[in-house]
Amino acid sequence: MRKISADYIFPVHTQPIKNGALTIADDGTISDISTFSENLETSADIEFYDGIICPGFINVHCHLELSHLKNSIPMHTGIIGFIKEISKRSNITDLSEQIQSAKFYDDFMYRQGIVAVGDVSNKDWTFELKKESKIFYHTFVESFSRDESETDKILQKNQDIVDCGKRLGLSVSPTLHAPYSMCDGLFSELKIRAEKYEILSYHNQETQAENEYFENNSGDFLKFYNEFAMPDNPLPMGKTSIHRLLDNVDGNTKILLVHNTFTSENDCDFAMSVSKNITWALCPKSNLYIENQLPPVEMFRRKNAKIAIGTDSLSSNTNLSMIEEMLAISENFDNIDIDELLKWATVNGAKALGIDKNFGTFERGKKPGIVLIDNIDMRKMMLTKDSHSKIL
Ligand SMILES: [Zn+2]
Repeated sequence: MRKISADYIFPVHTQPIKNGALTIADDGTISDISTFSENLETSADIEFYDGIICPGFINVHCHLELSHLKNSIPMHTGIIGFIKEISKRSNITDLSEQIQSAKFYDDFMYRQGIVAVGDVSNKDWTFELKKESKIFYHTFVESFSRDESETDKILQKNQDIVDCGKRLGLSVSPTLHAPYSMCDGLFSELKIRAEKYEILSYHNQETQAENEYFENNSGDFLKFYNEFAMPDNPLPMGKTSIHRLLDNVDGNTKILLVHNTFTSENDCDFAMSVSKNITWALCPKSNLYIENQLPPVEMFRRKNAKIAIGTDSLSSNTNLSMIEEMLAISENFDNIDIDELLKWATVNGAKALGIDKNFGTFERGKKPGIVLIDNIDMRKMMLTKDSHSKIL
């Protein structure tokens, strides 16, 4: 049994508690939430920390298997430049080195306070380390190909990876990559398969070129397809790219739309009219790295859209840190206090991944992980450049 107190405890689903105190069972289950003064008679046992304490972070979008690409891809290439750079580097690093990097950053994320990750994988070699990890992973097994003749082969490979994860007792489901990277056959069959698991992750409107292609059959994607003589599939639709998935989707499926850098107000209204189960996953540091752009955060807030936060991978980020993502948001958008950012980084992510029974808030009986954030500007209740997080 531990008792932990700090300047503020953020249960997240309720108001922050000044001088709050948590009682935590040996297995990490929250057994009580109170104030320090209510615990004064046993204050000698209390660990007191300067800063705020919140539930463990939920990183809703990562690609752990790209961890070895840290510092290898130049910034501001734009998404098409980025895709070209990534494909140049596929399979040039030894698998043992890739595993070593993934293990290092799995441990790093946990120490920084990340307790659950929505991880996109195209291969199966991260499963063994996920099984041993202190982090809970939901793995989205992703596939893509514009070549219709490859569809059966790719679907089979996707299924084999899903089965491999299930055999190891992991939480896994198939998913789609992005509107521009998948031919119609693969897209519709993988969508059906993902809907069976009632959870789907999808890279949405990461670049303006994606909208230009689907709306007008123009722009950088068209040039890219022509340059590499790629099959003419998918075809433009005369609508923005978000429609490719959402024009025909099961409203019960939890949908994580990732990036949304070029999502308009109309797109957001349309998406929210299609499904109540959409979470808008923002990865601001990755967007700054690749496109030097940020998603329309104010618009999403105005619409009361559900927002969660992801780090994306180290191929397009300098770190896997939720505090750095939150700071990137608060530095670029005014008046978002830490209370709101923490909701995005904890409970909203937990709901999006369907793990809020155990994660996301300080409530009796949950095991959400305990995170300390220090160097907060307590007067404004804002993060500062010196804020750090760690698991307690
Ligand atoms: Zn991604």
